[in-house]
Parts: sequence; C-alpha cells; structure tokens
Amino acid sequence: MTPRLAEEAINSRLTCLPIESLPLTQCVGGTLRENVYAERDQPPFDRVTMDGIAVESGTLRRGIKRFRIQATQAAGAPPLKLETGDLAIEVMTGAMLPVGCDCVIPVEQIEVADGYANLNAAVVSTPYHNIHRRGADGRQGALLLEAGTLLRAPEIAVAASAGMARVRVSSQPAVMVVSTGDELIEPGEPIADYQVRRSNAYAVAATLRKRGFGRIGDDHVLDDENMLRERLALHLTTHEVVVLSGGVSMGKFDLVPKVLLQLGVQEVFHKIAQRPGKPMWFGVGPSGQAVFGLPGNPVSTLLCLIRYVIPAVAAAMGTRRELPERLALAAPVTVQPALTYFLPVAIEADDWGRPWALPRPPNGSGDFLSLAGTDGFVELPPGPNTYPKGFVASVYRW
Ligand code: AMP
Ligand code: MG
Repeated sequence: MTPRLAEEAINSRLTCLPIESLPLTQCVGGTLRENVYAERDQPPFDRVTMDGIAVESGTLRRGIKRFRIQATQAAGAPPLKLETGDLAIEVMTGAMLPVGCDCVIPVEQIEVADGYANLNAAVVSTPYHNIHRRGADGRQGALLLEAGTLLRAPEIAVAASAGMARVRVSSQPAVMVVSTGDELIEPGEPIADYQVRRSNAYAVAATLRKRGFGRIGDDHVLDDENMLRERLALHLTTHEVVVLSGGVSMGKFDLVPKVLLQLGVQEVFHKIAQRPGKPMWFGVGPSGQAVFGLPGNPVSTLLCLIRYVIPAVAAAMGTRRELPERLALAAPVTVQPALTYFLPVAIEADDWGRPWALPRPPNGSGDFLSLAGTDGFVELPPGPNTYPKGFVASVYRW
C-alpha cells in the first residue's frame, strides 16, 4: 500500500458530511455546499470611481472649461438628473452616475469657486472616464461561487455581495481524539521515570483546531482490551471521526486493530509503505464512521494526521482537493529504504526571497523535539536514491 493508494482507499470509503445553513459570520474556513449566483449586475449601477464632477463628455469636447454646479450626488442616494448639458453635478466615489452625465473629472483637475467648476486644460473627455460601468465585473444570475469552494475572506465578501445572510456549508464532523498507552501521563500531573507525557493528543487537537475544526473530543485509554472496547464503542456512537494514537504496531499490547474489528469497524488497510508511520491503520465503522489508527511515535502521529486524516476529512466535507504545495530541497537527501520518506523541513528564503525546504531529519520517529521550529515535511519517493539539492517535492505544513 503506497501513500497514494492509501489516500484513495480512505477517500473512496468516506461518506459526505451533512449540510447546515449558517450565518455568514460563522462560515470562514467552511466548505460551501451550494452555488452562489449574482443577485444583481456588479457593479449594480454606473459607479463613480473618483470624487469630482460629472458632466456630459460632448460638452467637454466642444471645449467648455467652466461649469455651474447644479447639485451634489452622494453615494447611497438615488440618481439626480443633469438639467442641461452645460451644467455639472458634484459626485462622490461610490455614487451613482447622474442621469445625463457620462464622464467624471476628478477633484484634482478642477477648481471650485462661487458655485462654478473651472477645469484644468488637460481633462480627458472620453465617455465613461472614471466610471465603473454597470455589469462590468459580472452579470446578474452569473455563477459566482461553486459548491465545494473553501470560504475564505474573498469568498465571504462575494457571498455577502450576493445578498446571502446565511449559506449552506458542510457541518463540522465531531472528531474524537483518543490516545492509548499505560505509560502516558497528562501534563500538570506528577510523573515517574518510566512514564511519558501524553503529548500526541495535544498535537492532534492543535492541528485540528488550527484547521478550523471546533468539535473535538479528547480521551485517554489504557492498554486494556475491555476498557478500550467500552470506550471506543461509546465514541463511535457520538463521533463521525475517531483519531487514535498508539496501539497499532506489533506489540503484545497493541490492541487497537483487534478491538476495532470486534466493534464492527471494517479494516480498509493496515500499514503503508512509508517511513515513519508504517503501522498506520484505517477502517470504517458500522454507520460510516472514519477510524484512523495512527502510530504512537509522536513524529509518525503528526505526519500521518496531516498527510491522511486532514485531507480525508476535508474531502468528506465536500472541499475541492487542493494540490499540495511543492518546494525544492535546499540540500541533498539520501533515502535508503524502499519506502516513501516523510522528512521534516524548515522553509527558508534565499537572498532573492525564494522559499526552499531545508531538511531537518529527526533522530528517529520518537524525536518530536526536533520538530519544534520546523514548518512541515516533504514527501520523497522510495529509495535507494539520493535526491539532489533542487529536487522538487510535495510539502505538507504543520
Ligand atoms: P505505540 O504506537 O503505542 O507502540 O507507541 C509508540 C511510541 O510512542 C511509544 O514510545 C509510546 O510511548 C509513544 N507514544 C504513544 N502515544 C503517545 C502520546 N500520546 N504521546 C507521546 N508519546 C506517545
Ligand atoms: Mg502503546
């Protein structure tokens, strides 16, 4: 099972998450699940783009340089009408172009005195100068945003411009993060020599929160078959996604695959041809729950979470797949085993501001201290091979 096949196996098993309608203010980071169409032409009227005066361009072309100001047209006011061609209407940026005018002369090119505007010699008399014409950016009814679009600030602005107070988005999945292991102790609690801190659960939750997931549960289970079965049975009834860390290797106390099978979670695969993170397990629960058994070694946990779990959940939310970022290696890397190699990197700019992936190999998959200060990891093809400086690889950021 290669990473690519593992990814496909996961995505083909996931069921699409339900849809809910949310106020626009709560939608950032969400996935749009309906098309958004233009409410009106954009701009909806001939929009003045400069503070100044609006006139009729034909009058300018006849050489007239002095206009009596008839009135003022502000943004947000219904359109005034130019009474005669030799008059001007003072206009503000964002105002509707007054009826009878087809040209705006910026305030910098005129002098106003005693109710008259005197024009500089250099004014341009082309029709629709300094006017953003109705429908120039888009027509009423045009498709503005497609279902599957990730809602960031520009897309939120577009939805707001289409008059949508609420939009239909994917519901957030309830994700249960379960760490396993008798040796693990919560930060803040006293700890013995033979115990280690339960850091994975924090890294997993932090990754999920950073990506906008808000419904995250946390549990810790000992390496005890009955306890594991009882707790996982409960989590499977209340969560669409369960992310386990630890307990999926070959040890006597690696009970996770066995217990999941007992609970009717169907194994899709166990093990991926990759380093680190080889023992990764994935299965699907009786009602379509996605269950990820991530290896417990902290580097493996984080890499597998980012490489597989995050994109899979995004796909289940209906988000269109984004290609991973690609960067060049800043130094050669030798890969010995015939396994895909995930290598932590720091992204650094050269003297021209171009980003490079600087290898930061950890001291094995248990060495998560070395991850602090890195930016993510690159995915390198299986060895044996030496990938030179400049070799371009997919990058996954923390
Ligand atoms: P396992 O996959 O359960 O065999 O765990 C592999 C290694 O990762 C062991 O050294 C564990 O102590 C360590 N480990 C497992 N879970 C965690 C965790 N939540 N936080 C930190 N280390 C962990
Ligand atoms: Mg364990």
